[in-house]
Amino acid sequence: MASIKSNLPRRRYDAVIVGAGGSGMRCSLQLAEAGLNVAVLSKVFPTRSHTVAAQGGIGASLGNMSEDNWYWHMFDTVKGSDYLGDQDAIEFMCRQAPHVVYELEHFGMPFDRNSDGTIYQRPFGGHTANFGEKPVQRACAAADRTGHALLHTLYQRNVRARTQFFVEWMALDLVRDQAGDVVGVVALEMETGEVMILEAKATIFATGGAGRIWAASTNAFINTGDGMGMAARAGIPLEDMEFWQFHPTGVAGAGVLITEGVRGEGGILLNDKGERFMERYAPTLKDLAPRDFVSRSMDQEIKEGRGCGPNKDHVLLKLDHLGADTILKRLPSIREIALKFANVDPIKEPIPVVPTIHYQMGGIPTNYYGQVVVPKNGNHAEVVNGLYAIGECACVSVHGANRLGTNSLLDLVVFGRASGDFIVKQNLKDKAHKDLPADAADLPLSRLARIDGSSSGERVQDVANQIRKDMQAHCGVFRKQELLEEGVKKILELDKRRMHVHVKDKSKVFNTARVEALELDNLIETAKATIISAEARQESRGAHARDDYPERDDANWIKHSLFYSEGNRLDYKPVNMKPLTVETFQPKKRTF
Ligand SMILES: Cc1cc2nc3c(=O)[nH]c(=O)nc-3n(C[C@H](O)[C@H](O)[C@H](O)COP(=O)(O)OP(=O)(O)OC[C@H]3O[C@@H](n4cnc5c(N)ncnc54)[C@H](O)[C@@H]3O)c2cc1C
Repeated sequence: MASIKSNLPRRRYDAVIVGAGGSGMRCSLQLAEAGLNVAVLSKVFPTRSHTVAAQGGIGASLGNMSEDNWYWHMFDTVKGSDYLGDQDAIEFMCRQAPHVVYELEHFGMPFDRNSDGTIYQRPFGGHTANFGEKPVQRACAAADRTGHALLHTLYQRNVRARTQFFVEWMALDLVRDQAGDVVGVVALEMETGEVMILEAKATIFATGGAGRIWAASTNAFINTGDGMGMAARAGIPLEDMEFWQFHPTGVAGAGVLITEGVRGEGGILLNDKGERFMERYAPTLKDLAPRDFVSRSMDQEIKEGRGCGPNKDHVLLKLDHLGADTILKRLPSIREIALKFANVDPIKEPIPVVPTIHYQMGGIPTNYYGQVVVPKNGNHAEVVNGLYAIGECACVSVHGANRLGTNSLLDLVVFGRASGDFIVKQNLKDKAHKDLPADAADLPLSRLARIDGSSSGERVQDVANQIRKDMQAHCGVFRKQELLEEGVKKILELDKRRMHVHVKDKSKVFNTARVEALELDNLIETAKATIISAEARQESRGAHARDDYPERDDANWIKHSLFYSEGNRLDYKPVNMKPLTVETFQPKKRTF
């Protein structure tokens, strides 16, 4: 195809960050403060990124309210990951945690306070003292609006540092040159429909998760997996995509999240007999066991007929015993959500809840500097020059097969900052931009041409909704071979169907139908990666629970999955079991 790059407007930056959530804005702050020329693209106004919805807290072993240290935090994270997390990256994160939280405090983040002025910390699932002995208070919180406080603090600091925001700009595809180096992105200005090439010496993906490949999700509508889609189309594999976290407490029927902080403050789960069933499944941590464990226990109760309501399809989250004062002070938004979405006042009645898709543990493979790494010539971690990924779209991997609550906000800030520091050290100012390849914009322009040229076909939302339905039905809390195989077939069928969608509205100005059609290409890449990796992994580990393979199989499966879109093929790479300075935590049976 003839080169079309020269027709497009181009702009040059030292660094282009795609995504203005917690990870993107923590990275951009580091770069802008070091004097680099940084552009941050976002589909929505920065403070509307999904990070704003985070409720419960950010984990750090400050030890303000009960004795704590980073080593216990590391143990909990490795065990929580069901031994699939890379222990070097986990040590790095847990050691950095107190430092990055104090830094946020000094940026002005409005944490809740104890009477002695220190940061308030609440217990959270899977976080323990002394290697699992009892729950510890590690979640630093700003009421139940921690993400809101974090994101606004970071946005304001970025405005001060003169970060340049491209608001309502959608990145479409990466630009990779002949050598495989990343030299920028092609993006669409949603207001005008114009396409531009943004050249960069460092391109950083901070595009968040893809929770919208599921029908019932706690995620924002913009979480369509664009980073994963762009990476997959550029030949980069996606790591551990079979591991998706079901949050135990989504409002039944609505999907809106009720933070684990409710249980951290003392809330408990009940079945239809009024029984606190978690005592049976996790005698030590009870309702504060990790999320994979609690979600499966809830599902088991429902399956065995002890669910609540006319359809016996949910359980109850009781918190009235905490008293109106605690609820109004520590959990004000939860009360509002319960009133609006479940029509109950939690000061008086329990909230109906059900496990709901919440978080992807997998993503674009990186090291703990945020550099994207891929297998090449026998090396399983060859750096892709010029490309970085941070936040939920990245797989470092600190969460392995199951993430502990509060460890995501932590991951955003730790790796947002670490990648920023690493990029600053590359002295980008002294380096020239690499030349754009002749076919720089061919892929995104051909995608747009397909959409703009359509004259008949299916509606985008019909295909997108079918993806969500099929993923939900074939790849849920409990999985099994036949169901997964059927699901893979259906998703591959949808992969063909999405090539023939029809968008009626051909206008350019703020055409959201066009944007949704572009997002569909990303939904399908993420869905394929998820269900194909899940079908292949014949064991149960963390959030990936197989009815037909109920045990964890350490002999065969302590390895990361890698999904390649081209040929829909899988590969694997070893887990890094070696921490930076301490001894390996050897796999053990997980009990709580
Ligand atoms: C309801 C809820 C509550 C949560 N509570 C907690 C909690 O208490 N503690 C915790 O640790 N974790 C929590 N999590 C998880 C955590 O909040 C997320 O994992 C995290 O905020 C993701 O941040 P991010 O920076 O990776 O991306 P996001 O905050 O999701 O931001 C993604 C950014 O990428 C942009 N973007 C995406 N695609 C494109 C594109 N193609 N072009 C341009 N821009 C693009 C978006 O506009 C946005 O700015 C919660 C999650 C949810 C959904």
